Amino acid sequence: MRRLLGALADDSMEGRGTATPGSARAATFIAAELARYGVQPAGDSGFFQRVPVAFMSQNGRRRLTLLSSLAARDSVPAADRANSVNVVGVIPGSDPVLRDQVVLVDAHYDHLGMQHGQAGDSIYNGADDDASGVVAVMEIARSLAAGPPPKRTVVVAATTGEEVGLLGTRWYLQHPARPLDAMVANLEIEMIGRPDSLAGGPGRGWLTGFERSTMGDLFTKAGLPIVADKRLDQQFFMRSDNIAFAERGIVAHTLSSYNMHNDYHEPSDDVGHIDFAHMTRLVDVAVRAARLLADTPTKLQWKPGGQPSPRNRE
Ligand SMILES: [Zn+2]
Repeated sequence: MRRLLGALADDSMEGRGTATPGSARAATFIAAELARYGVQPAGDSGFFQRVPVAFMSQNGRRRLTLLSSLAARDSVPAADRANSVNVVGVIPGSDPVLRDQVVLVDAHYDHLGMQHGQAGDSIYNGADDDASGVVAVMEIARSLAAGPPPKRTVVVAATTGEEVGLLGTRWYLQHPARPLDAMVANLEIEMIGRPDSLAGGPGRGWLTGFERSTMGDLFTKAGLPIVADKRLDQQFFMRSDNIAFAERGIVAHTLSSYNMHNDYHEPSDDVGHIDFAHMTRLVDVAVRAARLLADTPTKLQWKPGGQPSPRNRE
């Protein structure tokens, strides 16, 4: 945990701002780890899934925008083009029937980068948000690849551009590593580096939208220490990558132990504030959760009224 999170949240990664050199270094690190675990690459360039982005002016502000295709970048002035990637791997399913069904486990590896001209620490390390989730995804990948093989096919992804509008996930939806029609569940992992008293403290987590589908019940029945998100007013279910899949009808939730700490989106979200004893236990829980999603024969379902209706996210 310390080695992986320490690397991703190191100052040398420069806060992993989308389409920055620091972000590219982080993607390279994650891909090298997945390769070492024996995960199969599932991007369009090895483990990398290239995401075409460019800086565009919107309402007088220069901001990163997702383009319609890789080719569309050629029509953008060179100075405005940018590079970013999702890191995508797959662990093929082993069951003759269930292997045609896909579970996606993901976390976003981008964070806020650096802010120049600011007093004090200028690097937004994003140790909790969301290097912690990426480490969990890597550990899930390592565990599943080490065997026994999962019954369903599991796609693991570290996505880019979450903090600037879910850019990487929106591209993945248009270019999934395995068909979306085959996708039966999505577990996203977001901010698990510190314990939350509302989840019951160290080693425990909460699931966004717990009451909306049968995923939470599956975890409860298996004895996993994962409870319902108690802060419904925060709309966490709607606020991260999982929502893009949920709006497509796929049972999709986020596991977290975010405790509303004051370092959220601050340079002080760094390795020194990570509770590794808690995080190690919750990553073990996440590994067991992913294994359940991959191997439980019964298909997950939305409960009546649980599935969110699509919105215009532009
Ligand atoms: Zn996040």
